[in-house]
Amino acid sequence: MSKDKLGLNTICTHVGEIKDEQFKGAVSPIYLSTSYEFIDVDVKRYPRYFNTPNQEYLSKKIAALEHTEAAMIFGSGMAAISTMFLAFLKQGDHLVVQNTLYGGTVNFIKEEFPKYGIEYTFTNGYKVEDFEAAIKSNTKLIHIETPSNPLLTITDIKAVAELGKVKGILTSMDNTFASPVNQLPMDLGIDMVMHSATKYFGGHSDICAGAVASSEVHIQRIWNVGKNLGGSLSDMTVWMLERSMKTLGLRVKAQTKNALKLAKWLDKHPKVSKVHYPGLKSHPEHKLAKSQMSGYGAMLSFELNDDIDSQQFQKQLKLIKSSMSLAGIESTMLSPHLTSHSLLTQEERDKVGISNQLIRFSVGIEETKDLKRDIDQAIGKMS
Ligand code: PLP
Repeated sequence: MSKDKLGLNTICTHVGEIKDEQFKGAVSPIYLSTSYEFIDVDVKRYPRYFNTPNQEYLSKKIAALEHTEAAMIFGSGMAAISTMFLAFLKQGDHLVVQNTLYGGTVNFIKEEFPKYGIEYTFTNGYKVEDFEAAIKSNTKLIHIETPSNPLLTITDIKAVAELGKVKGILTSMDNTFASPVNQLPMDLGIDMVMHSATKYFGGHSDICAGAVASSEVHIQRIWNVGKNLGGSLSDMTVWMLERSMKTLGLRVKAQTKNALKLAKWLDKHPKVSKVHYPGLKSHPEHKLAKSQMSGYGAMLSFELNDDIDSQQFQKQLKLIKSSMSLAGIESTMLSPHLTSHSLLTQEERDKVGISNQLIRFSVGIEETKDLKRDIDQAIGKMS
């Protein structure tokens, strides 16, 4: 049966399974060997070569989910993005990168690129004109993130991909927030997609991993650098990730449904001054989001009224955890100015619109009525 004919949940459940020929077990066996035979074999396997059986097979699932040919799994999202960047950028090259970006990616670029002699420009905004204006004669890669963290801005994926094609520049994208359940960037022309698999791919807040998906040719180039940098993942974790990804479609769809309900509710809440969620008609890029996403995702952010201390509010929550990461089946909240964007200066945060009242909300699978009740009781304690 052809892989492209399979539906989302079938890909999640079955693509990349390793058949247990010996005992006919229902799930993939786990191969923990770090040493494999080298005589008369087609593939010389070694964990740091990203090609142990579990790594090889799970990569097939990720490639199928992202509608592309190949993928690689890494020890973290940052290992994935740094390896991808270093595979396509060398001394004297230039990267155009969106200004509203995950803070860790910003730090990587600012702290490491000067050591390699790689130039970069952060765009002034997230419109296609902003990317075009930042291009230089030595630009080799354009990198975008949409929806962005934590303000859920939406970049026109197709327009940026086309800009890259016209100018002969490769494009890459962080698809962590939407996941392939809600958005397929490679169908819109993007060359490479990366994920913090610590988020929706893992989904249970117990795995740290990353992934890149692209054509065979690009993945080969990433592999050439990846084997030197050594950011591969242990097979135990790869196996856990495979198990988690079987429910990716079910989880993310349920979380997305909950997020839309909560965004609408928060938008009308008297103690909330602003809600950032692309599924709301009031979101500046709602129409664009509708055209390029099949669901609006399970991440949103909101700003509490000035009379509520956002830290104290989070301390009063009983069900929703204050937590650094995101995308688990449990709902979590955090203050970006104290976490993901704490390394930016106040001036930089003000420039991109990250106020101290902003709370990022990763919506889980709980019943929305319980989540609403939790938020209301916490607000109630503040007034
Ligand atoms: N990209 C996004 C959008 C993220 O939110 C994160 C982490 O929070 C990363 C990349 C980095 O992933 P990791 O923490 O798995 O290295």
